[in-house]
Amino acid sequence: MLLVHTSFRAVGSLERGPITLIDALRTALGPQGTLVMPSMTDGQAVFDPFSTPTHGMGITAELFWRQPGVLRSTHPGASFAALGPQAEWICKPQPLSPPHGLDSPVGRVYELGGQILLLGVGHSENTSLHLAEAIARVPYSVSHPCVVEVDGAARVEMIAETDHCCRRFRLADDWLRARGLQREGKVGNADARLCRSSDLVDVAVEQLKADPLVFLCPHEEACEECDQACASIVNRR
Ligand SMILES: [Zn+2]
Repeated sequence: MLLVHTSFRAVGSLERGPITLIDALRTALGPQGTLVMPSMTDGQAVFDPFSTPTHGMGITAELFWRQPGVLRSTHPGASFAALGPQAEWICKPQPLSPPHGLDSPVGRVYELGGQILLLGVGHSENTSLHLAEAIARVPYSVSHPCVVEVDGAARVEMIAETDHCCRRFRLADDWLRARGLQREGKVGNADARLCRSSDLVDVAVEQLKADPLVFLCPHEEACEECDQACASIVNRR
């Protein structure tokens, strides 16, 4: 099982474009493998897994969920798409919050022993680190509006998540490298990182237990998103 976050631009030009990249990943996994990609949306309209475009996930992820046979989960903002024997399990319904807890697509990739491939992106794009935050029960939580459908009617619901700028997720490079748990190489022009989801999440949980705010920018860096996450701790007291 492979969960892939990509920047197609970083990979470089390919004949037939991102479809060739998707085909290559499918070939590498073989028929027993399950390929998973994020297919998150902006939450500004009722989510339809068959038509709502992804938001900020890159062209490869946007094309992936549209391929024949690919399933897509139903979270109104934080859906994932999957293809292969475990796709149905990955995409089964989940609670609205947290979007990336154990009972979510990234949680199932973690529990099923899946790997994570970062292709042309770094750990700041690595959603599974939010799973580590959920497991470690970090003290911050920010709510964002998201349109959900209840009894056929659209309404806005506030969804709580461990949101911040995610830049400090890059610390995971050092943690994994120090333990020899991350393979790195080139795919086309892109830097690629490969690790087991369980290695990544377990190492991050260990770090979060030592310092629950390790992923938030220090206050003096004046990062608006991380300051907001920090303020949520005070608000909850
Ligand atoms: Zn920040």
